Amino acid sequence: MSDYDYDLFVIGAGSGGVRSGRLAAQLGKRVGVAEESLPGGTCVVRGCVPKKYLVYGADFGEAIEKSKGFGWSVENVTFDWGTLRDNIQTEVNRLSGIYSTILEKNGADLFRERAELVDAHTIRLCKSGVTKTAETILIAVGGSPWSPNIKGIEHAIVSDDIFHLPEQPKRMLIIGGGYIACEFAGVFAGLGTDVIQAYRGGRLLNGFDAEVRDEVGALQKRNGIDTRFNISPTEIRKTDGGFIVAFSDGSKIGTDCVLMATGRRPKTDTLGVKAAGVDVDSNGAVKVDKFSRTTQPNIYAVGDVTNRINLTPVAIREGAAFIETVYKDNPTAFDHDNIASAVFTRPPVGTCGISEGEARKRYGDDVTVYTTSFRPMKNVLSGSEHRCFMKVITQGKKEIVIGVHLVGDDSAEMIQMVGIAIKAKLTKADFDSTCAVHPTIAEEIVTLKPRELNKTTVVT
Ligand code: NDP
Repeated sequence: MSDYDYDLFVIGAGSGGVRSGRLAAQLGKRVGVAEESLPGGTCVVRGCVPKKYLVYGADFGEAIEKSKGFGWSVENVTFDWGTLRDNIQTEVNRLSGIYSTILEKNGADLFRERAELVDAHTIRLCKSGVTKTAETILIAVGGSPWSPNIKGIEHAIVSDDIFHLPEQPKRMLIIGGGYIACEFAGVFAGLGTDVIQAYRGGRLLNGFDAEVRDEVGALQKRNGIDTRFNISPTEIRKTDGGFIVAFSDGSKIGTDCVLMATGRRPKTDTLGVKAAGVDVDSNGAVKVDKFSRTTQPNIYAVGDVTNRINLTPVAIREGAAFIETVYKDNPTAFDHDNIASAVFTRPPVGTCGISEGEARKRYGDDVTVYTTSFRPMKNVLSGSEHRCFMKVITQGKKEIVIGVHLVGDDSAEMIQMVGIAIKAKLTKADFDSTCAVHPTIAEEIVTLKPRELNKTTVVT
């Protein structure tokens, strides 16, 4: 046994930290974990989980409305924000409790306070002032919303605040074109708020396949979201009736609530990384090697604080790989390629592998693209105009599938399965030899035809 208080001290009880702490404790290691907020981290407390419940909330509203075409009579439908908000918080608290229990039941000590690094082996617990030492330290503190420093920025809220809004805003202005901006625009429009989404670029979801970006632009409009492009906010002014936001092009937008969804940054500002000899990049992300080891050999980092791929399941896998490497004598580097993910617009996006633009950059003409767009049968009777878009990208003569991009109902569910096929390096012939399940949306993915060459638009 080492002379340290703990074999492992984990800073941050989010997805990556809890998984790592639990696995180490199950191996008989002496584990300490510190968390300044509720255990569970961004995903459980102020991200994926409560967000998905809001998406379901908005989807129920749409389902009620659209059920008329299926013979239902629905009169006097109302929505109560307070009920949904409070029910979500109850569930968040339940899940957070499970996270604490998982750690404690496995013998880890959970400190419910902020921790900072003092040196390479010492952690200070900020509320109690106690210091603890550890042979190995894992930084898993995640990230937090970042906003540009414009005049009046204190009047804006960020995604953390959304889940606690006292009232549902009648009008909401969302700044940004990324995951969070697109998802919350869809949620609040679905709940009945008048939403304007203002983005500094020309197409939503930077980094995604160009056709997906166009589809998402179209579906936001179909959901009644007023999307404005190529504008950045310069000032937020409070008025008697709400806020007025001024933009770079001279335009002004009046609203009841301004949500800044302009990205997230790793939470390393006051963590003591320098004192511990841990290097960070210009965004504050902890620099790590493929085994998640920082520049200080006994300190590791996983999850959003490393700003690799900022998704919960990735943090969990990085944590599990860290345990293999450090405690099982099995150096393991988590493979960050071909990770399936979803954007919970309404309907959602599912994506795995590379975009067409990236495929053409890497492989030039040695790429074949298959697409389809159709109105799912549910939407015909319901009168919904939403469509399903599917795109499969293959490479080489063998036509290995290197990218699948879906926009439409159930895309998030479908992409998880498709992710297995991409990870297994299956070919278009494998897809085609798979018999369809009828009648489903997913069956279209095994019957796709090549997009005619003259229609190919390559946009990166
Ligand atoms: P994103 O990076 O996805 O989007 C940030 C947006 O803000 C971009 O549109 C960006 O523009 C814009 N922006 C940045 N700086 C400024 C500025 N100074 N003025 C105006 N606009 C600005 O970040 P999010 O916060 O939406 O999400 C963070 C991460 O969290 C995601 O990347 C994802 O990894 C994760 N996440 C995953 C979800 C999921 O899996 N469903 C859901 C939510 C979050 P530009 O595009 O031009 O850079």
